Amino acid sequence: MQVPFVNFHKEFETIQIDVQKELDEVFKNAYFIMGQKLQLFEKQFADYLGAKEAIGVGDGTGALFLAVQALGIGKGDEVIVPSFTYIATALAASHNGATPVLVDVLPDTHLIDPKEIEKKITKKTKAIIPVHFYGNSCDMDSIMKIAKKHKLFVIEDAAQAHGARYKGKKLGTFGDYGCFSFYPTKNLGAFGDGGAVVTNKTNLAKQIHLLRNYGQEKKYYSKIKGYNSRLDELQAAILSVKLKHLDAWNKKRTAHVAMYRKLLKGIVDFASDTPNSTPSHYIFAIQVPQRDLMQKKLAEKGIGTIIHYPVPVHLQEAYKDLGYKKGDFPISEKIANTTLSLPLFPYITKEEITYVCDTIKKMVSKKD
Ligand SMILES: *Cc1c(COP(=O)(O)O)cnc(C)c1O
Repeated sequence: MQVPFVNFHKEFETIQIDVQKELDEVFKNAYFIMGQKLQLFEKQFADYLGAKEAIGVGDGTGALFLAVQALGIGKGDEVIVPSFTYIATALAASHNGATPVLVDVLPDTHLIDPKEIEKKITKKTKAIIPVHFYGNSCDMDSIMKIAKKHKLFVIEDAAQAHGARYKGKKLGTFGDYGCFSFYPTKNLGAFGDGGAVVTNKTNLAKQIHLLRNYGQEKKYYSKIKGYNSRLDELQAAILSVKLKHLDAWNKKRTAHVAMYRKLLKGIVDFASDTPNSTPSHYIFAIQVPQRDLMQKKLAEKGIGTIIHYPVPVHLQEAYKDLGYKKGDFPISEKIANTTLSLPLFPYITKEEITYVCDTIKKMVSKKD
């Protein structure tokens, strides 16, 4: 049996007719940037999340970068970021001239440890970027409390958490900004790059509107030095179609993860969900000591896996300048060395999951 890491063909089939209709309309209008399709999707996405505004941007990295900039964070400032995350989270601080200050994650959820956050706060700290990794919610009660106490901004990296909730409230709507990616594999994925910044504050929304479009409110009149980072009409139209299916697809992912956990319990380790949360289950990762060997052997059995992510931020070559060393964030390092993401997508079958789990069981019991 062949089980690819992701397979979106079935997903495409379910939306093909609707997507084609949308694309035809865009072609007929022949209007490709900052038009009605974007406006409509922005409204739909904001409503779906229960947020005041959503602003479509070029990608998730751009969403984070613009959010940091919009809050006036720059040179001499510090931004707290988990040491175990996708590099884009840290880059958002760096490319604004600020310093990412890293914090280790919790061993059970692999999410930023609120107790460690407080230890890293200095006079220079301006913001915390909690990352809802795997689509699982960070401990938002603790994080919002710390932010309030120290008067810090909160920018949620919700790039893996479309539709996930914490105590019933959608992720991305707790902080000053919530940042989303529509990279094709994400829970809500475009057919190319895309992203959005979400906020409940009108003045903060206005700032992103300016920054994503050359600083212009009125065409050709720039108020501030902005950028070009926009979600195009084709992607917005596709995302409107897919948004209608998001809850159903997330539910499928949740059922698949429940099955994986049931079949692999006591065989391998895996992260647990945050209490009182409803994760979107972007990734299902296991932790195995001989990870690289297992990945190779699973590939030989036709099973696709990915490592999210092999190198924590503090050990990335790009971040040599921060002066961190091996051993500084032991939990992040352990996860990076042992983590392996198993095939997961809405239309994976029970047979495929069973095959993956049986194969892993046989490998683990052989003790090699
Ligand atoms: C995907 C992702 C990003 C970056 O999004 P892009 O759209 O690829 O730029 C940022 N943070 C996390 C946690 C992600 O998973």
